[in-house]
Amino acid sequence: MVELTVTVTNSLGLHARAAAQLVRTANRFQRSVRLERTDGSARADAKSILSVLMLAASRGTALRAVAEGDDEQEAIAALSNIFEDGFKEVSERQHQVTAEPREMKWTGLGVSEGLVLGRVLKLHNGTRHVYRAHIEDADSERELKRFRAAARLARRQLLAIKARAEEQLGKDHAFIFDAHLLFLEDQKLSNEIENYITREHSNAEWAVKVVGDRLLSVYAEIKDDYLRERGSDIEDVIHRVLVALSGERPQYRNLSEDAVIVAEDLLPSAVAELDLQHARAIATDAGGWTSHTAIIARGLGISAIVGLGDLYQHARTGDEIVVDSFKGEVILHPSSATIEKYRTEAARLAETRATEPTKECGSVRTQDGMEIILRANVEFPAEFDGVRKFGAQGIGLYRSEFLLARPGVMLSEEEQYKAYSEVAKLAGTNGAFVRLFDLGGDKVGDSLIESERNPALGLRAIRFGLTHESVMRTQVRAIMRAAAKGRLDIVLPMIADVGDVLRAQKIISEERSKLESERKERGPVRIGAMIEVPSAVLTAEKIALTVEFFQLGTNDLVQYLLAVDRSNDKVADWFRSLHPAVLQSIARTLEAAREANIPAIVCGEMASTPAYSVLLVGLGATDLSMTPSSIPRVRRVLAGIDSRDASSIAAQCLQCETADEVEDLVREQFNSRWPDLFTPRSLPARRS
Ligand code: PEP
Ligand code: MG
Repeated sequence: MVELTVTVTNSLGLHARAAAQLVRTANRFQRSVRLERTDGSARADAKSILSVLMLAASRGTALRAVAEGDDEQEAIAALSNIFEDGFKEVSERQHQVTAEPREMKWTGLGVSEGLVLGRVLKLHNGTRHVYRAHIEDADSERELKRFRAAARLARRQLLAIKARAEEQLGKDHAFIFDAHLLFLEDQKLSNEIENYITREHSNAEWAVKVVGDRLLSVYAEIKDDYLRERGSDIEDVIHRVLVALSGERPQYRNLSEDAVIVAEDLLPSAVAELDLQHARAIATDAGGWTSHTAIIARGLGISAIVGLGDLYQHARTGDEIVVDSFKGEVILHPSSATIEKYRTEAARLAETRATEPTKECGSVRTQDGMEIILRANVEFPAEFDGVRKFGAQGIGLYRSEFLLARPGVMLSEEEQYKAYSEVAKLAGTNGAFVRLFDLGGDKVGDSLIESERNPALGLRAIRFGLTHESVMRTQVRAIMRAAAKGRLDIVLPMIADVGDVLRAQKIISEERSKLESERKERGPVRIGAMIEVPSAVLTAEKIALTVEFFQLGTNDLVQYLLAVDRSNDKVADWFRSLHPAVLQSIARTLEAAREANIPAIVCGEMASTPAYSVLLVGLGATDLSMTPSSIPRVRRVLAGIDSRDASSIAAQCLQCETADEVEDLVREQFNSRWPDLFTPRSLPARRS
């Protein structure tokens, strides 16, 4: 046995690059080489990068190097050399200088207000879950082989990436991939995963995830900032192996206090996985105003910017970040001056917000006495508080499909019954409109629905229910039973014509009779149709005769009427809520409801936008449902207008030829009639 005390002299300590050099050196020797802190507080196997990094040895740390075996002398001499060399300190410093993060700025679409200073939490585009499967003894070997094959594939990919990076950026900059390779080759890591597979009878994906998460949580506790951030390297490697295995992605539950979620795109299932109590903001590369990321962020009152292009590629977990959704700006690695500026701004905003009145509740009356009902759209229990806090008149749209976001499997009748009873209780005497699962499209349920070439035009919403009747039957039974606890109505999503309504009604009425014969307690429910596709608008008079209410979904109406994918930032400029065709469709639908003497609730995002809510009233709407936090502002604006003015402006808008013309008209008219109600920012922005 040979021992030697060495000191870490390089500026960043035993970080990924230095650790990689150390491990590569130790691995050249046959026998054991270990490192120990001289105070005995930690020891590491010098052949394992994970183990070396866990020493958290910063500059100045004294370590005892111990080698045992035939080549112990050579091993100690080699280690001594690299420590003395300071791990090529000069290039290290150079690297440090060149790698000093620069302030970088992105501009996107601010979809939920807020100004946040925080730290990046990168989230892989997780739409699927890593499931745990029980593996029989006889099949364990197969899982081990799958894991080894995935690790080999990930290794080949990394070697190729490293070679490319070396060629394009130079050796110094490719070091990080060397560290990734060592993580992957680390026996400690692969042994742990393989042991987990055999011991726990687990599938390979689950074992990789559990072991990876465990490792990440240990990293999260390291005091040294730089080393702690190496967690994102482990994250990348784990992700790569999971993708190599099956395309599944890792998930994160416990967010730090100041987490800003950065993702390429964030689907509802991923949001449902998070402990959003702590998420401060969301910044995504893709998405639009009515994408579900935006709707959820607004619902939860979290600041959000979408359509940022390539932020995800540049950000790393732990990076400092500013998210200013008022300006639609994201700043990565903000300088101290920038941080100071935004801190002051955030404090000023917090003060103004604290004084915003939110006490009124119930409907609102316009200056000329027209009563407008204000309800809440709800997706997650986390939004329930807002329904009361912002004085909503019950729940105008309960997006029930979000119940399926978390587990990724269908819920039983009992589980649904409990959830709907809770909603009925929350909604009180004004009741809740429960929409049948709107699965497919850009929504939740990717694990329940087969992937389709064109999901927005595929087996979405009512089409899914009519195809998978048992799912629909279970849901309507649960709703009708929960309706005994409080007022609930059923909304049929994405109705295209009377035929869809009749088929759904038949199923509902059969289940009603069954509940009766089973002597199960149930309450009365009305059945209504979402009007959100052009064919429904064009046959609205006929549909109105078959249902008891309309729900006007302007988000999908704009999407389908203008042929613009609501979640695609590349076509966001074509998503024009004030397009004359949209306004005419709204007017026509409201007119059909009036003629048939049934209520019509406008529940798309237009209703959440104060300026648009005025136009909706002008077009004849008297019942609006919106993100709970928007209620106070919509209330304030509607209380300040005369509905006859709104009607006259809406009538002029209907005569316009283009969305630009409508927007110009709205800006001009609103400014001159209601200068106190609208700031330039609350009106449609001028387009260049
Ligand atoms: C809509 O389409 O306007 C709507 C309210 O439903 P969702 O946004 O859930 O599709
Ligand atoms: Mg819709």
